[in-house]
Amino acid sequence: MNEIAEDQQAQALYKELPRVVIVGGGFGGLAAARALCKAPVRVLLIDKSNHHLFQPLLYQVATAILAPAEIAIPIRQLVGHQSNMTVALAEVSGVDAASRQVLVNYLDRRDAPLDYDYLILATGASHNYFGHDEFAQFAPGLKNLNDATSIRDRVLRAFEIAEIEDDPKAHQDLLTFVLVGAGPTGVELAGAIAELRRFTLASDFRRVQPASARIILVQSGPRILPTFHEELARAAHKRLEEVGVEIQTDSPVTGVDARGAIVNGKRIASRTVIWTAGVTPSPAGKWLGVPTDKSGRVIVRPDCSVPGHPEVFVIGDTAAFNHLGQPLPGVAQVALQQGKYVASVINARLTNDFVPPPFHYFDKGQLAVVGRNFAVLQIAGFRLAGFFAWIVWAMVHLMFLAARENRIRVITQWIWSYLTRQRGSRLILSAGGTSPLFD
Ligand SMILES: Cc1cc2nc3c(=O)[nH]c(=O)nc-3n(C[C@H](O)[C@H](O)[C@H](O)COP(=O)(O)OP(=O)(O)OC[C@H]3O[C@@H](n4cnc5c(N)ncnc54)[C@H](O)[C@@H]3O)c2cc1C
Repeated sequence: MNEIAEDQQAQALYKELPRVVIVGGGFGGLAAARALCKAPVRVLLIDKSNHHLFQPLLYQVATAILAPAEIAIPIRQLVGHQSNMTVALAEVSGVDAASRQVLVNYLDRRDAPLDYDYLILATGASHNYFGHDEFAQFAPGLKNLNDATSIRDRVLRAFEIAEIEDDPKAHQDLLTFVLVGAGPTGVELAGAIAELRRFTLASDFRRVQPASARIILVQSGPRILPTFHEELARAAHKRLEEVGVEIQTDSPVTGVDARGAIVNGKRIASRTVIWTAGVTPSPAGKWLGVPTDKSGRVIVRPDCSVPGHPEVFVIGDTAAFNHLGQPLPGVAQVALQQGKYVASVINARLTNDFVPPPFHYFDKGQLAVVGRNFAVLQIAGFRLAGFFAWIVWAMVHLMFLAARENRIRVITQWIWSYLTRQRGSRLILSAGGTSPLFD
C-alpha cells in the first residue's frame, strides 16, 4: 500500500472512533482533555473563551499585582498538540440528551447541533446575587478576566478621581471600598487593596492620602472564612484588622446602588462596591432537564454521570457530588480530580478495561492569603497561619498554574513586587479620564 492510501485508511479509521465532547476548558474540562490524550477517541473541547484561566489568582489581576496574560493561557496552546484533540471557540446553549447532541453557537452566530458519544459538561459557575441581579451593575463580581480588569479600573480610578475632587465628602465616598462576602476571595481582595493603598500608592498622589482609604469587608454570617476552622478565621480576622481592613460580621447587605451599599439597614457611602458573596452553577441542569440541588448543581451519580444517561458526565462547580454524606465544595481540586476520573471511566469503557470504582475525592486542604507574608492553611487536622503558610500558598499556586511560562512570569512579578512593593499592572483600561489639574 502506498503512503497516500495508508494515510486515507488511517483517516477513515480515525473517523470511526467515538467522539467525546467536552464543554468547558477550565480546571475540570482541561484535566479530562489531557487525560484522554492516549484514549481511542476523538475529543472536541468547546469553550466560549479562548483561554484557560487560573481563577485563584484573579484577585491579583484585580489589584494590579499581575497582568491578565500571567494567569491565563490559550487552550489551543495547552492541548492543541494532542493528536486526537480539536478545540472550538463557541458557546453551548443546550443539550438534547435523547439524540446525543449539544447545541453550539459558533462565532458567526451559527447554531448547530453536534453529535457526541460521550459528553463531559464542565461549565463552571458564575456570580450569585441571591435574587438581586440588579446589584450587578453597581457591584461587579470576580469570575473572569473582564471582571478582574474592570475591578482594577474601578479601584485605581477612584484614587484618580479623588485626586482632582474638591468636595471632601466626595473624597470619603471615593476612597471607601466595600467588599460584600468574606470567603477566601473577599479576604484576599481586602488584604491586597489594603496593601495597594498603604504602600504602592502611598507617595504617588499630592491631594489625597491613599493610606486614608477605608476598606470594609462585610459578611452576613457570624465570621469570616466560614469554610475554614474557627481558629484560622480568627487569625485572618486579626491580620486583616492589623492591615487596616474594617470587618463587619452578621451584616447582611440589602441594597447596592451607585451611592454605596445598605448594610445592616444603614448606608455605607461608597463609589466602589465589589461582590464576592457567592456563585451559581452554569445552567447544565436546565439543558439536561435532570434533578439539581438547591443551588442548581446537577446531582450526579457516584461515577459523575447523569442519572439515566451513563454517557453524560457533569463535573466541577456545576456538579453536586455527594461524598461521604457531604456535597463536595466548588474548588479547583474537585474539578481537576473529577476531570481525570471521568476520562479514566470513558477510557475503561471503550477498552473493556476494569471500570474504576466510584469517584473518591482526595482533599488536599484549603488556603487563603491575607496580603504579603500571611496566609492560613488547613489540611485534614493540620492548621497553620502566618509566614510559612504564605510560602506554602505561593508554592502551591505556582505549581498549579497550567503552563510553565505562566509560572516563570508570575514568580518574576512576585519577586519584583515583594522587593519594591510596586505593582506591575497598574493600568486603567476603560475609557474616560480625569481633567488635568494643577495646584
Ligand atoms: C476569584 C476566584 C478565586 C478562587 N480561588 C480558589 C482557590 O484559591 N482555590 C480553589 O481550589 N478554588 C478556587 N476557586 C474556585 C475554582 O476556580 C473553581 O472551583 C474551578 O474553577 C471549577 O472548575 P470548573 O472546571 O468546574 O469550572 P471553570 O474552571 O470555571 O471552567 C468553566 C469553563 O467553562 C466555560 N464555559 C462556561 N459556560 C460555557 C458555555 N455555555 N459554552 C462554552 N463554554 C462555557 C468557561 O469559559 C470556562 O472556561 C476560585 C474561584 C474564583 C472565581
